[in-house]
Amino acid sequence: MTESVEAVVIGAGVVGLAVARALSLAGREVLILESAATFGSEISSRNSEVIHAGIYYPTGSLKARLCLAGRERLYAYCASRGIAHKRLGKLIVASAPDQVPALQKIKALAEANGVGDLEWLGANAVQALEPDLQANAALLSPSTGIVDSHGLMLSYLGEAESMSAVIAYRSPVESGAIANDGFLLQIGGGAPMRLHCRHLVNAAGLNAQHVARGLRGLDPALVPPLHLAKGNYFVLAGRAPFARLIYPVPEHGGLGVHLTLDLAGRARFGPDVEWVSALDYRVEAERAQSFYGAIRRYWPGLEDGKLAPGYAGIRPKLSGPKDPAADFLIQGPASHGIPGLVNLFGIESPGLTSSLALADMVVRQLAP
Ligand SMILES: Cc1cc2nc3c(=O)[nH]c(=O)nc-3n(C[C@H](O)[C@H](O)[C@H](O)COP(=O)(O)OP(=O)(O)OC[C@H]3O[C@@H](n4cnc5c(N)ncnc54)[C@H](O)[C@@H]3O)c2cc1C
Repeated sequence: MTESVEAVVIGAGVVGLAVARALSLAGREVLILESAATFGSEISSRNSEVIHAGIYYPTGSLKARLCLAGRERLYAYCASRGIAHKRLGKLIVASAPDQVPALQKIKALAEANGVGDLEWLGANAVQALEPDLQANAALLSPSTGIVDSHGLMLSYLGEAESMSAVIAYRSPVESGAIANDGFLLQIGGGAPMRLHCRHLVNAAGLNAQHVARGLRGLDPALVPPLHLAKGNYFVLAGRAPFARLIYPVPEHGGLGVHLTLDLAGRARFGPDVEWVSALDYRVEAERAQSFYGAIRRYWPGLEDGKLAPGYAGIRPKLSGPKDPAADFLIQGPASHGIPGLVNLFGIESPGLTSSLALADMVVRQLAP
């Protein structure tokens, strides 16, 4: 027998859970299918937990718009639901005179994106704020902060469930087909079954392309290539002498080896950018050498032996090492012509920050 449900969300990461919450709030009956034994065990638990201001993305891109819209909503949401977060602020640092023009470009881009609160600091002003920092100049972003991503996901899930959404763990979507009035899904795991739904949101993160290719009736040419860019983190032994997040000027594929603080005040450095061909979350101790070099450009006082391998996350990129950075791809009926289907591809950073705004966009694409 084939069970039937109004809407299925594939994947219980921060994006899938935000979508499930938004669909539930819009009155839909929602089933979340998650292949793992719990929620948020992939990209959503392997990131920097930074609430980004929306500074670096190309003006008008989804990343720029959704980050800006998502950020303030996220702060308000965390405040109203008691989710741990801190608006710590961040410094983007030019640690050599030849990096100052890059800072000026970043400020102009931020303003074009609607981020009008960046403050230009000269070397003395930086010293006054963060005495251990080596900086010729810096930009202070007061809207950048950190959030407890696990608490956030728990809240999205709790709200969705209170609205009658249901989550099924250990329930991988193996394949599917476009059917009359919706979709037929084959679910694997311990209790395999077939399921019919009218709306389908593919929020499978690193597996979104694989899931989409398994959907009979969706033109495979519409499924974008996936490039994996691993980001390694190293943790600092002892306390960092900084009160804010510290970023160098960005590098291709990532934001440069930056310092973020967690809610307990512990410091970690990363993520770097390592292009890989398979999922492998090990952090090689030898990579520490390049971290010391990168960090000492802005923190010359970092002592030997202070960095230990931390964890790694993998970015689901739509652009390769030599390509210009790609935008999020929110692929709804207007692009593939299939009513009721939204595929989410390339939801790398700032996906966590954008999650509430992204979810609303998905709901709009599914509106009749
Ligand atoms: C190194 C790194 C640092 C980052 N830092 C930040 C940051 O500081 N701030 C920020 O805003 N963003 C950041 N991001 C981006 C952010 O973490 C992601 O955009 C976000 O977590 C993506 O969530 P998701 O739900 O799309 O994916 P995921 O969290 O990976 O969730 C996808 C889920 O789908 C499930 N799944 C897969 N296949 C199937 C299937 N066939 N059937 C059922 N379930 C399936 C998986 O098990 C998984 O739980 C960072 C990302 C990385 C990699």
